[in-house]
Amino acid sequence: MQKKLITCDCLVIGAGPAGLSAAIAAAESNLSVIIAEYLPSPGRKLLISGSGKCNITNRLLPEEFAQRFLSNFRFVRPAIFDFPPEDLRNSFDRLGVPLVAPDGFHFFPKSMCAKDVLNALLDRCQTLKVKIIPNCAIDSLQLHNGAICGASTSTQSFESSRVILACGGMSYPALGGRGSGYKLSQQANHTIVLPVPALVGLKSAEAWATKLPGVILADSTVKFFDCYSGRGELIFTHSGVSGPAILDISGQVTTVR
Ligand SMILES: Cc1cc2nc3c(=O)[nH]c(=O)nc-3n(C[C@H](O)[C@H](O)[C@H](O)COP(=O)(O)OP(=O)(O)OC[C@H]3O[C@@H](n4cnc5c(N)ncnc54)[C@H](O)[C@@H]3O)c2cc1C
Repeated sequence: MQKKLITCDCLVIGAGPAGLSAAIAAAESNLSVIIAEYLPSPGRKLLISGSGKCNITNRLLPEEFAQRFLSNFRFVRPAIFDFPPEDLRNSFDRLGVPLVAPDGFHFFPKSMCAKDVLNALLDRCQTLKVKIIPNCAIDSLQLHNGAICGASTSTQSFESSRVILACGGMSYPALGGRGSGYKLSQQANHTIVLPVPALVGLKSAEAWATKLPGVILADSTVKFFDCYSGRGELIFTHSGVSGPAILDISGQVTTVR
């Protein structure tokens, strides 16, 4: 069966916050933009973020913010300097989503409702005539002489000289985390660094640690073999430890073999 051919100036793969933001930026540059989304509706993970309240950003200055990414500092620094937290806060203000920081640090929508964040991004897409195609799983990229010129699903073929991969990571498959972005990147000859879990609780081999579920130690310092340390609330769980002090270092700990 012949695939249906669709053309556009810019194809975005994935309608999470990254894909929607990229689509808006491209459409604001007068490009015709299509977003292909695997799930029946966009922004599913965004809707559950921050327990449905969506912690959008923080009060850190760009340099301090980049430092928080530890070993990924060099990778994230240019992006954070190009679009620092203050600019992000202002852009949501312009989208009609004023932000508040109840603790003076973490910014949420004033309504404390992640749906308002998603709706603002979708409204902007609609204004800019960005077309979102749901239930559209891109399974391959098309390359011509080493340059990406499109992508396709089992039934559709997209022709576009600009393709933005915004497929998210591997967590929460029900919300779109399928890891397909890694496979598509490999088709374009990118090298994939083995993905590891981050921002997760840690399991403990110590039996005593699993016998204290629900116990919270405020303002703790956690050290992992003198390599990494995290500070903040420490929460004991049925399988080990969690809470901000652990979440902050979990990405480093899971890379240790
Ligand atoms: C429980 C929870 C709470 C969180 N809370 C916060 C928070 O408060 N603040 C915060 O900043 N972050 C939070 N996060 C993290 C945040 O949700 C993610 O960082 C964010 O969603 C990543 O955005 P993304 O657009 O890169 O990817 P995603 O949101 O994962 O979107 C990627 C999209 O691409 C689609 N897709 C994937 N592969 C394909 C394909 N081959 N073809 C077509 N479509 C495809 C997926 O269906 C998905 O819709 C939280 C995450 C979780 C799980």
